[in-house]
Amino acid sequence: MSATTADARSQSATRGGWTPNPRVATFLAEPHGLWIDDEERQASRGTIPPRVLDVVNPATGEPLATVAAASGSDVDDAVAAARGAVAAGTWARMAPEGREEVLRRLAQLVDDHTEELAQLDCLDNGMPLASAREEVAGAAAHLRYFAGWCGKLHGETITPYRTQNHFVYTEREPLGVVAAITAWNFPLDNAVWKLGAPLACGNSVVLKPAEETPLSALYLARLSADAGLPKGVFSVVTGTGEEAGAALSGHVDVDKVAFTGSTQTGREVVRASAVNLKRVTLELGGKSPSIVLADADLDRHLEQIVRAVMHNSGQVCSAGSRVFVQRPIAGDVAAGAKEAAARLRVGPGWLPTTDLGPLVSAPQLDRVLGFISAGSADGAELVAGGQRLGAELAGGYFVEPTVFAAVRDDMPIARDEIFGPVLSILPFDDLDEVVARANASVYGLAAGVWTRDIGAAHDLARRLAAGTVWVNCYNRFDPAIPFGGYRQSGYGRELGEAALDEYTQRKSVWIGLP
Ligand code: NAD
Repeated sequence: MSATTADARSQSATRGGWTPNPRVATFLAEPHGLWIDDEERQASRGTIPPRVLDVVNPATGEPLATVAAASGSDVDDAVAAARGAVAAGTWARMAPEGREEVLRRLAQLVDDHTEELAQLDCLDNGMPLASAREEVAGAAAHLRYFAGWCGKLHGETITPYRTQNHFVYTEREPLGVVAAITAWNFPLDNAVWKLGAPLACGNSVVLKPAEETPLSALYLARLSADAGLPKGVFSVVTGTGEEAGAALSGHVDVDKVAFTGSTQTGREVVRASAVNLKRVTLELGGKSPSIVLADADLDRHLEQIVRAVMHNSGQVCSAGSRVFVQRPIAGDVAAGAKEAAARLRVGPGWLPTTDLGPLVSAPQLDRVLGFISAGSADGAELVAGGQRLGAELAGGYFVEPTVFAAVRDDMPIARDEIFGPVLSILPFDDLDEVVARANASVYGLAAGVWTRDIGAAHDLARRLAAGTVWVNCYNRFDPAIPFGGYRQSGYGRELGEAALDEYTQRKSVWIGLP
């Protein structure tokens, strides 16, 4: 590494008088290899110059770290290591009690390293440190919850319908090698959501984190070795989607791909999976409606309605970005949203005053600004925000929290996933109308309902085409509650008991009786 790059990295990480914890500083200063068989190794060993990806701090636009860029043959190595662990049975055939202990140890290590993991995601993704700490707590809870399933997975004995002469039971077996491909918006949680259930079920996992945010996954890999996860059971291949991601989803020795990302890439993953008909689960994009009825308790909930879009600078798959407001209160909601947006403080994630960090990358910034310009050009009323932030934030990818009123359903800001801090207010008159309009989307990830009328809440919850409906709350997640999409928001479920079905297969065993 050149001195200039190292200096730039340390400046980038310490800007604003804030210094990362020494372990984080050391971690950032080292170039990182792929994590395969419990060690870091260079991509395509021996290649000169080494194949690397530069990781950027989105709050400054400066270099943050360097990681390896896996080639197809590196992916082959990681899959071979995972397959080796499957063949040796080091994990799948370990007594469930032992697997549970390892996963609990990993959860504890995640807790113990909260500050390191949180700081890495704050610097890498841009999210505020407080959110990153919550993310780490969520990751540890997730691992504990799934650790608890290790000893509770079992088959059944089933009485056949047409014969008396057989004894039949089922067993639940792991699938084998699971490839996890994740997005950059919650780097640690996206990774851990694809680790808890498959590991509890006895699979090996090869993780390819998003190229923008690979750091916490590499840190987690080190912790997994300390927790006692056997060699080969968890690998991390950093690299691009086109190369490493495509190599995993098209790999004949991968039994399943668990994917989080855009709907467009999801389609490519499904196409590539056809090579060996591997299983696929998809957690994709959304354009979720958040429906505010005229009787909603705005004093209590308006802030939450706004945060349902703005949280993590809008980079949340379930963001409630289409805010349908019953006409009598549309003006009040627009005025309240304007004030709430103005109260959100935008800045680098490491400042304790920051509510919203930067967008993750320059392309994401351009995309979001493009949508904002299109909204104004299409005639939506810009109520708040709309600008990139300059002055001391000019080097980073910061956008003001933005609110549009009088938005029409056919405008791109109302139809397409923006993945930025942009809230659209769409007035409506009655429930039948809002259900039809809310459901008129290719997506179906989540929906919000804000009302004091319990009957209307249940009615809407039943009629909305979405994998999750939140009533008088939003963006609540829990390891025990299944999460996933309808329609082009994906298929399969993460979290909860439902996730276990995604990582096991059932075998029926027939015993002929005399
Ligand atoms: P993306 O689809 O560009 O990338 C996601 C991952 O796929 C990355 O790791 C990327 O390297 C990889 N990839 C890219 N091309 C690939 C290919 N051809 N084959 C295999 N892998 C490939 O998505 P993004 O821009 O990183 O993330 C934003 C998207 O993710 C949004 O649409 C968002 O809604 C979605 N998301 C969904 C959920 C959910 O749970 N539903 C959660 C987070 C993000």
